[in-house]
Amino acid sequence: MSDIISDTFALQLQQMRSDLLAQIRAQRGGRISRAEAAEDPHALQSGDLNQAYSERDLEQALSERETAELRAIDEALARIAAGTFGVCVDCGADIPTARLHAAPTTLRCIGCQTRYEREHPSATPSL
Ligand SMILES: [Zn+2]
Repeated sequence: MSDIISDTFALQLQQMRSDLLAQIRAQRGGRISRAEAAEDPHALQSGDLNQAYSERDLEQALSERETAELRAIDEALARIAAGTFGVCVDCGADIPTARLHAAPTTLRCIGCQTRYEREHPSATPSL
C-alpha cells in the first residue's frame, strides 16, 4: 500500500476517533479526560497501546463497546505505522481498498471474516 493511501486511511481513522470521543463527551458531559490523555500520538507511535489503555479511569468512563471501538481504531492506526495495514491477519492477502474505506478497522478479507464469524458466532462483528 502506498504512503499516500495509508495517509488517507490514517486521516479517516483519526476523524473516526475524534468523532467517537466527541460523541462520548457529549453523552458523559466531559468525563473522559483520561481518554483524551490517551490520545497522545507518541503512545500510538511507540505501539504502546496497553500503556495507553491501562488507566482504570478510562475503563470506567467508557462502555465496553466504546472501548472496543476506540481500541480497534488505535490498532488500525498502529498497523498503518507498522506498515501492516490492509493485510488480512488470517491469510495475508491484501484487503481490497473499497472494503477498507467502508470499514478501516477491519482485520480480515471478506472470505476470512465470513469464516471467522461462522467459527466465532459470539464475536464482535467487524466495526
Ligand atoms: Zn483473508
